[in-house]
Amino acid sequence: MIPFNRPYFPGEEIDYLNQSISSGHVSGNGIFTKRCQEYFREKWGFRKCLLTTSCTDALEMCALLLNIKPGDEVIVPSYTFVSSALAFVREGAKIVFADSRADHPGVNEDALESLITQRTKAIVVVHYAGVACDMDKIMTIAERHGLAVVEDAAQAVDGYYKGRPLGGIGHLGCFSFHETKNIHCGEGGMLAINDEKYQERAEILWEKGTNRAQFFRGEINKYGWVDVGSSFLASDLNAAVLFAQLKNLEEIQNKRKSIWTAYQRNLPVLEKCGVGLPEIPAYATNNGHMFYLICDSLDQRSRLIQHLRERNIHSVFHYQALHRSPFYAPRHDERLLPEADRYTACLVRLPFYVDLEVEDVEKVSAEILRFFEV
Ligand SMILES: *Cc1c(COP(=O)(O)O)cnc(C)c1O
Repeated sequence: MIPFNRPYFPGEEIDYLNQSISSGHVSGNGIFTKRCQEYFREKWGFRKCLLTTSCTDALEMCALLLNIKPGDEVIVPSYTFVSSALAFVREGAKIVFADSRADHPGVNEDALESLITQRTKAIVVVHYAGVACDMDKIMTIAERHGLAVVEDAAQAVDGYYKGRPLGGIGHLGCFSFHETKNIHCGEGGMLAINDEKYQERAEILWEKGTNRAQFFRGEINKYGWVDVGSSFLASDLNAAVLFAQLKNLEEIQNKRKSIWTAYQRNLPVLEKCGVGLPEIPAYATNNGHMFYLICDSLDQRSRLIQHLRERNIHSVFHYQALHRSPFYAPRHDERLLPEADRYTACLVRLPFYVDLEVEDVEKVSAEILRFFEV
């Protein structure tokens, strides 16, 4: 069986886990948490980073930092993971769903402005497949209306927009280190706080509403409960596993990009039969997060997935547009989001993980070409 995903471990994590255990501090904000946060600051220039238990938690921190209250509106693409919207719904926000682009599952930047009302507080953008949204356009719109921009960069580590690292452009950026992402620690995430005005409070929310972090830095002589928050910080054991991935980032990324390039080399002929392939705009880069095809119908996609399954290849579809979800559809207005519907029905993701052998990429490609009879 060629699985869709297989979590990769470089090996050093065992040594780092031992170091974390013998340090006597395995809870949050220990040595490996600091090393990971420092790595992100140095490599990508993020001002302040906080390691969290998941990207979902980092998004929940954003909702608190932005003071989202019942009645506020937040614009979120419909074609995304539940968490991009859920984090704001928990604070009472009304979600206004945006459609995707015709050439890419990312948000249609040109459709955003018409969704803004007096109640809009924030725009959440998702860099789908690690491919940047047009951030200049988005930041200009946000600035014009005084809105905050949250980048859901869950899939976008080591992805860039006009040379700038994703997650570092909006006011806040959220990363995931779930086992299905480029680098992982089982479950994990990170909040990048790019706008200085949120930095101090973010640290407090992270530590259950206390000023404990300031206390441990010796800035205050006792700590207490000063704000809302939760236990958003990740165990140092998770950080130890993540640090091993960061140490091997280049190797991981080179391998992932070579898999992406191999699919890209094998499959362009599919465009002749109307199948869509990933598009990378000139302002974006490819971070080797995933490779997908866009079939011409739900039926064709189902048959392709079945064809591959019968040959022991596991391919998977992706999001179910959130505006149609049983939870949110009753609250969504009448607007149609045809592109989000199309990706829901037609997008299929191919096996993609660091240990995927070149021969397996060839085998998957050959089976796809056989299905389409090209
Ligand atoms: C994976 C993912 C998430 C959720 O990440 P967790 O770390 O599992 O909470 C959120 N948004 C997007 C776009 C994702 O791909």
